[in-house]
Amino acid sequence: MFNLQSLLRPHILSLTPYSSARDEYTGKVGVFLDANENPLGSTTDTGEYNRYPDPHQWAIKQKLAPIKGVREGQIFLGNGSDEPIDLLVRATCIPGKDNILIMPPTYGMYEVSAAVNDVEIIKVPLTTDFQVDVESVLGAITDNTKLIWLCSPNNPSGNLLQADAIRTILNAATHSLVIVDEAYIDFASTSSWTNELDTYPNLVVLQTFSKAWGLAALRLGMCFASEELIQILNKIKPPYNISAPTQSLALDALAHEEAKTNMVTEILAERQNLAENLRSLPSVQVVYLSDANFLLVKFDDAKGVFEHLIEQQVIVRDRSKVKLCDGCLRISVGTRTENERLMEVLRQMKDAPVSSDLPLGSGDEATRPELVSNA
Ligand SMILES: *Cc1c(COP(=O)(O)O)cnc(C)c1O
Repeated sequence: MFNLQSLLRPHILSLTPYSSARDEYTGKVGVFLDANENPLGSTTDTGEYNRYPDPHQWAIKQKLAPIKGVREGQIFLGNGSDEPIDLLVRATCIPGKDNILIMPPTYGMYEVSAAVNDVEIIKVPLTTDFQVDVESVLGAITDNTKLIWLCSPNNPSGNLLQADAIRTILNAATHSLVIVDEAYIDFASTSSWTNELDTYPNLVVLQTFSKAWGLAALRLGMCFASEELIQILNKIKPPYNISAPTQSLALDALAHEEAKTNMVTEILAERQNLAENLRSLPSVQVVYLSDANFLLVKFDDAKGVFEHLIEQQVIVRDRSKVKLCDGCLRISVGTRTENERLMEVLRQMKDAPVSSDLPLGSGDEATRPELVSNA
């Protein structure tokens, strides 16, 4: 049987959280002399930001809960998905003792968060078709495995993980949290695992406003889980983790869900177009099937293609050094014009001589800080 308490670090259970002024008095009207705010206003040209924001973002959760088919208490909002990723590690993993399990190739932040917290990382690679190797995963889980990270649709491969595999892990790993990162779920052809939250107390689902909603700059991530776990995350988060401008812009976005739907439709049509066009290029070996807003593409000469694209100021992500992604570039689906420009530059290439010593150096993005980004 799953028991959240035994999964948490003992000191988290007994921790007294910071109690903010807005926790202690929740009324909206009055003379507010309790938070050492500036009563005169803000130093900005537009807007008033002198008051602390709602620490629990109730207005957003009220709008979001019916959209996602969950209860308000099952929602945690973070400063990007990065925040719940980190909080989950800190809530459950004792450094030097506990571990997390990831399935490369996958999103880099799971590993980084564990490393920052000095937590051991168990790696069980996906199969060559980027699916979960269920038997190996079940064999690799130890008594100290607190978090099992699944990314579906997976970054960088773009595919959904098989539901049966996820279900098997949810049923078997009853002493771990099983996190399904659905950053790209809006682009996928299946429903969300949020529908299963009441069936699996060990299930955590991550989503984000950064992709389909077009709000990467806001930094707003969603975490859905049991009320019990959400209360723990609330207890250890920084008190005012979501700024007032972010909260009001998120409310604005949620009132325009159809704008998101329309953009997703357009991006899916472009994804289809782009995949077909890429498949017609002789230098392309594989365009992997994608349920996300990007394509993983295997080229004859990934390094050469990457460098040629950079020369022409078309920036894609070099994933060729990543496990199982030999020869692969990850290409975000752009606008029609951007995708056409990409294709134009790729088509030019077969006429141009293959350059061996471009001034940019190697295709290894780690040596190019200006190209390093989270996503
Ligand atoms: C882009 C992405 C996210 C979103 O991260 P934010 O911090 O919310 O911007 C989360 N998970 C995966 C797998 C991603 O690719």
